[in-house]
Amino acid sequence: MKYPLVQNYINGKFVNAGTGTTLPVISPLDGNLLSVVPLSATADLDQAVEAARAALPVWSRMPVKERVQVFFRYKTLLERDLQQLASLISEENGKTIGESVAEVEKCIELTEFACSIPQLVTGEILEVSKGVECRTERVPVGIVASIVPFNFPAMVPNWTIPNALALGNCMIIKPSEKVPLTLAKIALLLKEAGLPDGVFNIVNGDHTIVNAICAHPSIHAVTFVGSTKVAKHVYRQATQQLKLCLALGGAKNHLIVLPDAKADMTAQNVVASMSGCAGQRCMAASAMVAVGGVDHIIQKICDEAKKVIPGTNLGAVINKAAQQRIEQYITEAEQQGAKILVDGRKAVVEGKEDGSYVGPTVIDFVTPGMAVAKEEIFGPVICIMRADSLDEAISIENSNIYGNAASVFTQNGSYARYVIERASAGMIGVNVGVPVPREPFSFGGWNESKFGTGDITGRSSIEFFTKLKKSTVKWNPEAGVNWMS
Ligand code: NAD
Repeated sequence: MKYPLVQNYINGKFVNAGTGTTLPVISPLDGNLLSVVPLSATADLDQAVEAARAALPVWSRMPVKERVQVFFRYKTLLERDLQQLASLISEENGKTIGESVAEVEKCIELTEFACSIPQLVTGEILEVSKGVECRTERVPVGIVASIVPFNFPAMVPNWTIPNALALGNCMIIKPSEKVPLTLAKIALLLKEAGLPDGVFNIVNGDHTIVNAICAHPSIHAVTFVGSTKVAKHVYRQATQQLKLCLALGGAKNHLIVLPDAKADMTAQNVVASMSGCAGQRCMAASAMVAVGGVDHIIQKICDEAKKVIPGTNLGAVINKAAQQRIEQYITEAEQQGAKILVDGRKAVVEGKEDGSYVGPTVIDFVTPGMAVAKEEIFGPVICIMRADSLDEAISIENSNIYGNAASVFTQNGSYARYVIERASAGMIGVNVGVPVPREPFSFGGWNESKFGTGDITGRSSIEFFTKLKKSTVKWNPEAGVNWMS
């Protein structure tokens, strides 16, 4: 075992969970055992909530300009330890080192945004009648919990950590049991940056801790990022307990390719979107709607896909079960009459035979009713469907239950605008395969890709992580004069 037993992080210290139950943490790159993670009990969560409750009065009342000093330091520590964090992400998640470096760089950008929060949370004040002022100010929600998935061990936690804490909340985070190591390192960096004990706590575990978070009377708000099935469950449980909740779910992102699209650029973007992070991104393209005569672009997509080699510029999928699930989708589509143009099944990386790899896969002549067209595959697979018109393509896109991202590839601004107006998705790309809004814009999908109001990052997150306090104050305009005399 390469790393010691994973521990919870409560009140500024690493502590053992109260249970003896653990799960192995296996590297998808080569199948090696990295560590074991505890499946904590409700009592472990109670301890973390107690630590957060104790820290909240001082942290929440500290001026925001003082709080963000921690995040200025945290940002420089992320920069200092970028390579070490990237290695950890790659080992436990399976993505390439380059993708892992990009993930840490994104954490730095998210933290930069948090450092700008004092400029964004200023309140308003107005004299509404003689001697009477109304003012608004944003105050912390209290104790927030964050439940995160396996696919971005650093970035998704950093969607919420810097903003929620800079805004004066205390936090309990539950890592994915598949990738708990990166968050432990992040806890150390936050401590080194000067974050007071108890403000940030980690409780490892599985659905037991998720359900306990939703039920805990002292947790005020819950954010969740993961699959739609669990997002719905968490949203229902948390709101049932009258908590604020924002739950981000899965995705099935469509790219519409029109005949006038630039062939080389489109092919490169499509392949980068479907195969980056081995297709395990909620913003990955997994369906393409080819409108009219675009066979020359499909040919280039196949040529590009063949340059993506497992174990070199393509990382692993999270585990053997994921590999089997993805291969099953491909086989089922083939049996239903789709044509496999590039086949990533049975990928093996020499010397890493116990790793979990799927090569890039391009499937043509998929029809909208097939499972591979409707469901989230979460692997390096693109399904191509054919449409005769832009309206038909948009209707295929919009018939999907999800609504995270949608992109169009065209050189015609009117066609692009037509898609922007009609696509039922929260994040739209024009000639962009992965249309993630950069800070200060916010991240969030629509439909079954997100439950709750607002977005999880950027300016929108400020509303989620704060409450608006309104005061009405009557001053005696003569009081100062009387005192002076
Ligand atoms: P997941 O839903 O299996 O797990 C997410 C979290 O929920 C984990 O912490 C896990 O321990 C917990 N969990 C799992 N099953 C549970 C259950 N039955 N009850 C309560 N808690 C449970 O997701 P994953 O496999 O870790 O991540 C991949 C999914 O996340 C994909 O669907 C992907 O699209 C989605 N995702 C979405 C976004 C977004 O922004 N919309 C971002 C990243 C990932």
